[in-house]
Amino acid sequence: MAGSPRVGVLALQGDVREHAALLSGLGADVALVRRPEELPTVDGLVIPGGESSVIDKLSRTFGMQRPIRDAIGSGLPVYGTCAGMILLADAVLDGIDGQESFGGMDIDVRRNAFGRQNDSFETELDVPALGAPPVHATFIRAPVVDRVGAGVHVLASLADGTVVAVEQGALLGTSFHPEVDGETRFHERFLDRAREFRAAREG
Ligand code: GLN
Repeated sequence: MAGSPRVGVLALQGDVREHAALLSGLGADVALVRRPEELPTVDGLVIPGGESSVIDKLSRTFGMQRPIRDAIGSGLPVYGTCAGMILLADAVLDGIDGQESFGGMDIDVRRNAFGRQNDSFETELDVPALGAPPVHATFIRAPVVDRVGAGVHVLASLADGTVVAVEQGALLGTSFHPEVDGETRFHERFLDRAREFRAAREG
């Protein structure tokens, strides 16, 4: 497909700028999305890292929860990093009281799963779907995927088997933050999905 896809970054809280800069660098037309009426203008949406309980609350305050759920249901490609992956999970473990998610991915995600010693760490991750070289992955108070449903592909796990990157249809989630390391391959994969979505929409 010719032309660059128009993609949104959900701009309620979190590392919005890092995602926007990376996506612009890849040639995408980037919109910061805060209102329901902005959603139909994009061919994909990134949910940034940050604090999932805050993004959840703000999305409800701004009337975005239902529209985002509907968009996910209609096949909009979405990439969630860290807090963003928590928001894509059908079930959130260790959430704050009343915490909700958008859902869409048949996974259970556990917040802040690494404890104090490993609050933040970096590691090299083998991601077969992305090929060589390995991904330099930065984890910051990161969640892990505790349960993976039948239709979900595991893209990456830590050496001990802990699942940290998943894909289900047009939905992509990583426990870590490629956007802070200049790692572009997950975003390129997301942009491929966004191009496909636009092509299907245009018929
Ligand atoms: N611990 C955060 C949460 O629960 C996620 C941290 C992050 O996005 N880097 O939302």
